[in-house]
Amino acid sequence: MWIIIVLILLVVAALVYASADIRSGFYVKTVSRLATGEKLLALTFDDGPHPEVTPKVLAILKKYGIRSVFFCTGKHITAHKSMARRIVEEGHLIGNHSYHHCNAFPLLSVRKMREEIKRCQEVIATFNLPDAPLWFRPPFGVTNPNLKKALEGSDYRIMGWSLRSLDTTIRRPEKVIERVTKRIKPGKIILFHDSQANTPLILERVINFALENGYKFIRADEKDFSIFNTPAEPFGKGADRF
Ligand SMILES: [Zn+2]
Repeated sequence: MWIIIVLILLVVAALVYASADIRSGFYVKTVSRLATGEKLLALTFDDGPHPEVTPKVLAILKKYGIRSVFFCTGKHITAHKSMARRIVEEGHLIGNHSYHHCNAFPLLSVRKMREEIKRCQEVIATFNLPDAPLWFRPPFGVTNPNLKKALEGSDYRIMGWSLRSLDTTIRRPEKVIERVTKRIKPGKIILFHDSQANTPLILERVINFALENGYKFIRADEKDFSIFNTPAEPFGKGADRF
């Protein structure tokens, strides 16, 4: 009996260890919102590039003159290189979202995490402009002590979010639109996924709502970080980028 209890406690401890909320910045300093009282918003797109969804998202962003950050996985960039090129050519930034985005990412060793980040960055480096800032968003937004160690000595800034669209979990687009538009406030960094078929439709409705209500969109990395509430300091300035 006691063995079961110990096992349960171990599982709970592992989950707590693995799943600190990215907004807390508890283990890793994270930019989760734009520190501004102005009606500014930033859009971010995770898990692409996707051969069908990403072009639709890009077309909408172009139509409204909005630039954003795409947190891509290395394996998807490798599979859809022309799409990655287009993202950058159209004025967006590609951020690092690990190479494989494996489900076990939060439980990986420091060495493996570092490998995942490094491998993705090597692929990104062939597309982003040479002086582009290094941004990382951990898969599932999870931060933990291993991630902190994995990032030590690197120049990465970590970007979280302050408004999750839940476009991967809520099936009906109307519900997602309602959820996001209700929560729009100055400074929100919004999380979408350009891997979901419904996202382009949702995106355009959200943009229209925001513009009608006097909001403007900026690329999240372009804000002056010295005024951020939650500054994302590089870990060890001048250290090797990995
Ligand atoms: Zn993701």
